[in-house]
Amino acid sequence: MSIFEQRESDIRAYCRVYPVVFDKAINARQTDEDGKEYIDFFAGAGVLNFGHNNPRMKTAMINYLQNDGVLHSLDMHTTAKRAFMERFVTTILEPRNMPHKLQFMGPTGTNAVEAALKLARRATGRSDIVAFTKGFHGMTLGSLACTANQYFRGAAGIPLLHVEHQPFGCEKPCSGCEMGCGVANIEALRGQYSDASSGISPPAAFLVETIQAEGGVNVAHKAWLTALAQLAKDFGSLLIIDDVQVGIGRTGSFFSFDDYGIDPDIVCLAKGIGGMGTPMAVNLVKPEIDQHWSPGEHTGTFRGQSLSFVAGAEMLSYFEDDSFMDEVKAKAKVMAGALAPLEKLSAVQVRGKGMILGLDVGNGENAKAIVNQCFDKGLLIASCGTGGRVVKLIPPLTIPDSDLQEGLDILVQTAQTVLE
Ligand code: PMP
Repeated sequence: MSIFEQRESDIRAYCRVYPVVFDKAINARQTDEDGKEYIDFFAGAGVLNFGHNNPRMKTAMINYLQNDGVLHSLDMHTTAKRAFMERFVTTILEPRNMPHKLQFMGPTGTNAVEAALKLARRATGRSDIVAFTKGFHGMTLGSLACTANQYFRGAAGIPLLHVEHQPFGCEKPCSGCEMGCGVANIEALRGQYSDASSGISPPAAFLVETIQAEGGVNVAHKAWLTALAQLAKDFGSLLIIDDVQVGIGRTGSFFSFDDYGIDPDIVCLAKGIGGMGTPMAVNLVKPEIDQHWSPGEHTGTFRGQSLSFVAGAEMLSYFEDDSFMDEVKAKAKVMAGALAPLEKLSAVQVRGKGMILGLDVGNGENAKAIVNQCFDKGLLIASCGTGGRVVKLIPPLTIPDSDLQEGLDILVQTAQTVLE
């Protein structure tokens, strides 16, 4: 065993241990050091929406380095940061009439969520947060308190910040789900908040994903999310949308909530916002909420990673017109069409939206067998959800049609073999 393997192989906190060492990657194909190729249906869990080594982003970064661009600047202005912000405002915010300010929180998703929780408490003067069953928001203590999964929460070893988890209103509840999710639950909360004798007061914020990606690819029902947004508004609670995994084009539009008709107070973005694995996290914050921070009150060293701004600005060029999102919608149709026949098998359900789909195969053992056999056949894919029972498809949005088809064929054949 090499020194590398001795030191690396038994780190118990790692969960994705493949018996190979990856070396190179282009778009949706990754190669191990023995030259075996894999199709990537995992895409860094939403980091690599624009593929590995995206040529536009790579060229922009090489040029920036060759021109001795400033690589790090804490909170100071740089040309790279300005270019990213200007493009973000003109391409993403202005067309949607979003007045939100950009607060860089970097480098990871949990940094964005932590800052959002802190700001919501500060802005409302309230301490409680409401999150949702099966939600995932990160691994640091505040975001972990909002994450529902008991296995992850147990890792903290001590009681966490108190966060109430209300049932998530799924569009397609899993079979056997008795969560009582839906609009009725929102109306019950409304009754409690309106009744002083209930002893239950409205929270500082509701923190929610429109699609619970780690939680099993559960898509929020539109009526439920709209009712939640209205509840937040009526009771002075902030609506925080965690778009860390399913934002940045994944669902066929830049924000996953674009077609929900809601107006979030804070939007948390990370993963794909940095372009091609270059870390960045940013919160979009309504100006009247932003003013509750005092200068320097919330800091973080890596909020100014210039290469992330450079790659991120190139990433935004994919959203200058509708053509890229039309391509994503077309690929999404191919994905949904390929998986649909599997729903005929007992206990199988397909959920998702755009280019994130979950194949719920009823239990973790079946999902694990599918994931492992796919790996042997050259397809990288992960599982998620309760007990790991959902196989999650989240390929790069830029995946060529032929790679998408090849990956889907491997997955469908493998799932049929395992499940029949
Ligand atoms: N929110 C969501 C919805 C996520 O999926 C994740 C990561 N899987 C996070 C927050 C945390 O992001 P990070 O791992 O970059 O801290």
